[in-house]
Amino acid sequence: MNKNDNIELKITACTAQGDGIGHHEGLTVFVPCTAAGDEAEVHILKVKGNCAFGKLNKISKPSPFRVEIDCPVYTRCGGCSFRHIGYESELKIKQTEVGEIMKRIGHIDTKPKPIIGAENPKRYRNKAQYPLSIDKGKLNIGFFAPHSHRVANCRDCLLQPEGFSDILGIFDKWIGKFGISVYDEQTHSGLLRHIYIRQARATGEKLVCAVINGDILPHSDELVSSLTKADSNIKGIVINVNKAQTNVILGKKCITLWGMDYITDILCSLKFRISPLSFYQVNSEQAERLYKKAEEYAALSNEDILLDLYCGAGTIGLSMAKSVRQVIGVEIIPEAVEDAKINARINNIENACFICADAANAAEQLKKEGVKPDVIVIDPPRKGCSPDLLSTIVEMNPERLVYISCDPATLARDCAILDTKGYKVKELTPVDMFPRTGHVETCVLMSRTGK
Ligand code: SAH
Repeated sequence: MNKNDNIELKITACTAQGDGIGHHEGLTVFVPCTAAGDEAEVHILKVKGNCAFGKLNKISKPSPFRVEIDCPVYTRCGGCSFRHIGYESELKIKQTEVGEIMKRIGHIDTKPKPIIGAENPKRYRNKAQYPLSIDKGKLNIGFFAPHSHRVANCRDCLLQPEGFSDILGIFDKWIGKFGISVYDEQTHSGLLRHIYIRQARATGEKLVCAVINGDILPHSDELVSSLTKADSNIKGIVINVNKAQTNVILGKKCITLWGMDYITDILCSLKFRISPLSFYQVNSEQAERLYKKAEEYAALSNEDILLDLYCGAGTIGLSMAKSVRQVIGVEIIPEAVEDAKINARINNIENACFICADAANAAEQLKKEGVKPDVIVIDPPRKGCSPDLLSTIVEMNPERLVYISCDPATLARDCAILDTKGYKVKELTPVDMFPRTGHVETCVLMSRTGK
């Protein structure tokens, strides 16, 4: 098989990234937007080793798992991976993938419990960050195309709350009227990099943020006036300064243009104040289910000390505070730690404290001070934990670990390390925090064996 060949391919399986898999002349062929059971004409884009990558030309016979694609930019946008497949099938694929990765990378043979699917796989997100571009004089606001930084124009993404598109419309008019320049990655010029919107699911409060390659936003009064007139749920409008030549969306500094510099949501019956720089689970409904599973795994009792590593705005630890003697949260972003402290206060929680530090350094310090947590919750970013942190966790000798992960591969790697040090996986549950996308969350219970 060679590049540019057109082949007839039977798709027999699907990856957790939503790509169909078929076999041809001894090669495994990956084809986006296909489903197990499809028979398709595929154009080969690349052959590498024993794999090939193709593009769907035409479906000769559709799979029974196919559904009608409901988004006009699906094939051009890098956001969703499963819109061509029914939600039940997507859940099965994710379920299988988690088990297989745990086995292949972690050599852990625990069958995952049934995945916790979402009741509503549409418009579940509470946060959007839209890049912008000018292409042949036309303004694009939307999302990056797969594996690229080309902006696919998409004003009303089906994963986002309904009102976000109106806010984009206001930006669009304002950009046109005042000739506001749009950031160009290639030349590192232009002002407006991203439009960042958050909405609290329970309260409806919105915060709108313009991420800019500069220190001031010209004609900001006009923008503020249009936004606040149009939407009474907007509680704050801020700018975020990001002048770095980087893929990282947000800079370190926020400046409030109008109103509040945070929104308040209710999650697990507690109030949470969330600042623009603080992490907050993007799917609130599923976050509640995830936290409930984590609490079940933690099996807390009144005398316990709970260490909440990578705690963000304190949501996990605070939602479990009533069941334990003490919560200690660790988080590296100062604004998130500030939110966590305030979140403890506004919920009258007095047995929680928060440390602003790198998780590995803080754990080492706590260990030196003789702190002995009974349970440690670990919820790191995609890259997982450092070997140093895992060693310190083991040296702290907690009875149970609850590891929450958004990347099964690094989770499996870390569980394998913990396994060699005496912690065994007792149970794991995948949670679909990100329906229709190629991402899956997993919650794992590990228990100490021996002393
Ligand atoms: N548990 C929280 C946040 C999870 S996201 C929740 O459920 O909402 C992971 C968090 O880890 C983010 O808040 C991020 O800022 C933080 N983080 C990233 N690297 C870190 C490090 N080295 N040490 C401590 N926290 C870190």
